[in-house]
This record gives sequence, structure tokens and C-alpha cells, in this order.
Amino acid sequence: MIGIIGGGIIGVATAYELAKLGEEVVVFEKKYLGSGSTFRCASGIRAQFTDEANIKLMKYSIDRWNELSDELGHDVMFQQTGYLFLATSEEEVEAFKNNIKLQNKFGVPTKLITPEEAKEIVPPLNADAFLAGAWNPEDGKASPFHTLYAYRKAGERLGVKFYEYTKVIGIEEGWKIKTTRGEFKVDIIVNATNAWAREINAMIGKDVVPIKPFKHQLVKTEPIERGQIEPLVCPPAWNDSYVIQDGEDGGVICGTALEYESSPDDVTPTYEFAKEVLRWAVKIVPALRHVHIVRQWAGHYARTLDNNPAIGKLTENFYVAIGFSGHGFMMAPAVAQALAEKIVKGRTKVPLDWDWFDPWRFERGELRSSAFQIG
Ligand code: FAD
Repeated sequence: MIGIIGGGIIGVATAYELAKLGEEVVVFEKKYLGSGSTFRCASGIRAQFTDEANIKLMKYSIDRWNELSDELGHDVMFQQTGYLFLATSEEEVEAFKNNIKLQNKFGVPTKLITPEEAKEIVPPLNADAFLAGAWNPEDGKASPFHTLYAYRKAGERLGVKFYEYTKVIGIEEGWKIKTTRGEFKVDIIVNATNAWAREINAMIGKDVVPIKPFKHQLVKTEPIERGQIEPLVCPPAWNDSYVIQDGEDGGVICGTALEYESSPDDVTPTYEFAKEVLRWAVKIVPALRHVHIVRQWAGHYARTLDNNPAIGKLTENFYVAIGFSGHGFMMAPAVAQALAEKIVKGRTKVPLDWDWFDPWRFERGELRSSAFQIG
């Protein structure tokens, strides 16, 4: 039996993939499934990264996103509405060109577009403020709620047992998992607790992945007419601020990089964030000043030292998939499949660079180039 600790998108998707390979799986979640970062994310999915490992992983993940609704038997609302990064200086345009070259090398069809072309894609855009855009129409978005539900139901049909409100409080060699609802004997453990992962790794004396939780927030507007801001639109030089219309109801989700180092249990939104994010959002799309904000919420980026997750074996029969920063939702389909296949078959066809994401790299003092951060 395989025990997964953490019922976010990574734990739930991995449970499904393991069950698909014939494994008996139990998932322990201290609150309700999705209550960690997953239900608090901005829904964005992109292959526009700036290094080979993340580009290849996300190109594959997008292929999986395309299959998910049919495979899982529930619409996850995946839509390829693109990501549009916008440059405000000549240096940034040059950096975009280099990134585009690398992305094209691995089959991601990003291209440089003019501000006029950007305005055709996002009609209310303040296009005059930008010199160029990096546009990948294959990037997109999906519903975190429907995706988690789809994986959960498909997992349950294959026999996965989900224990909600069941906190893991200790682990004994062997493995015996102690929870607030009793003890469970399992053969293999997967730690998928993201921002809480150090607590679990410490339970087996292997606190070797330095993860710090940073509170990140979003505001969302009332619904606006569809087709206005469908892609995720982000000028990185404007404090990594972004706007994107929610794929489900058309409200506009607005984010910015203002973050606070905080306990992952602290999800109180701040007024400072609301003021800051709106300052940028109305610069990107001026008409947003006429739209009401209806929600604000907070979650956490679980950040490693190089902003790349730690995925792989920590010790015999104990695996981790943790520290996903702003990318865990988009990566989940690829990471879950890769990890499940690695555990069961010892190999996977998913192009996941195990060395790049090795959880032991920090102990060796090896850092990767920082993964590009935006949601
Ligand atoms: P989580 O969803 O955090 O799940 C971990 C679970 O472990 C939690 O439910 C927690 O309760 C449980 N747990 C912890 N300790 C225990 C214990 N002792 N026992 C049992 N259970 C335990 N990603 C994207 O891909 N695209 C985006 O656009 C995007 N935007 C974001 C915007 C914001 C504001 C935030 C905060 C995040 C965003 N992210 C985005 C990041 C994304 O939300 C996360 O990377 C992803 O949800 C991580 O999933 P997870 O399953 O690893 O972790």
C-alpha cells in the first residue's frame, strides 16, 4: 500500500496515477482536499519558462492537460487561451527573444508580437505602454476546483481512499503513519505537503529540502464580458503583476509579487496587497478601474532556494514532490504521472529531469537557475 501525505493537486493526481498502475493508495489530508495552495491559485498553465527542464516538463504537461477531461470523465475546463508577457524596455525585448529561441527549440510555439497584435488578443490592453509581447497560444488555464474533483473521482473509481481531516503527526520506520485518526501501515510514502513539507521530512530525520512559505494573494472582480482578458497578461517589469479572466465565470483575477514570509496556516488577506495589486492591474488594463472587486484571498508559494520543486526519492520507499512555488497546479499532470511511473516501474516516459529536481541538491550545495516565477 502507498500512503500519500497531502491532498492538494499533487497528492490527489499522484494517487490517481498510482491507482491507474494497479496500486492500492491512501491519501491523508489534514483539512479538506484542495485547502492548501491548490484552491487558492490563479489557474494559469504555461510552457513559457526560461530553462530546458521546466520547458520540456511543461510542454508534456500541456499535452496531458489536453487529455485530462476525457480521461478523468469530468470537464477540468482546460482552455488554451495563451500567456502574453509584455516588455517595457529594449533589454527585456532582447531577453524575450532569447527565451523564445529556447522555447521554440523544444517545440513550444512562442513568438514575439507587436503591441498592436497584443491589443487584438486583449482588446482593453494599455498597449502603448509596451514595446513587444511574448505570446504562446498553447499556454492556458483550467479550473483548480474541477481538476481536483476530476482526479479525486477518477481515483475513487480505481479504489483510492481519501482521509480528510486526518493530520499526519508521526512516522515510524517501516512505515507506520500516525495520524489524528489512528495508525496506518504502508510500504511506500509520498510527501506531497508542499508548504508544510519540512514537518513531514523532519519526522523521518531528513529535513534536507529548505522550503520557505511565502504568502501570495489574489483579488477577483465581478464577471466581465468574455473575450476581453482571456490570456494571462503579465509585464514582468511591473512587479510580476498579472491579470487573467477566470475560465469559469469571466471575473478578472489580479496578482502581483508583493509577498510575505509567513506560516502556511496564515491565510489572512492584507489591505496593503489589495491597494498594490490594483495599482498595477489598472495600468495593464485601464478599464478595470470601473469594475468591482468581489473577492480577495491568500495562499502560499512554497519556495525552495532556486524556486524549482524537489521531486524524487528522499530515502528508500519515501518520495517527495514538494516546493512548487507558483507552478504546482500547471505541473501536476506531468509530475504525478512521472512520479507514479518511477515508483511502480522504475522508469517513465515523462520528460522529467530527475537530476534537475533532485531533493538532495541543496545538501550538495547545487542550485539550479531560478525557475521563472509568475503564476
Ligand atoms: P497544496 O495544495 O498546498 O497541498 C498540500 C496539502 O498538504 C494541503 O492541503 C495541506 O493541508 C496538507 N497537509 C499539510 N500538512 C499535513 C499533514 N501533517 N497531514 C496531512 N495533510 C497535510 N500554480 C500554477 O500552476 N498556476 C498558477 O497560476 C498559480 N497561481 C498561484 C497563485 C497564488 C496566489 C498561489 C498562492 C499559488 C499559485 N500557484 C499557481 C501555485 C499552486 O497553487 C501550488 O504550487 C500548488 O497548488 C501546489 O499543490 P500541492 O498539492 O503541492 O500543495
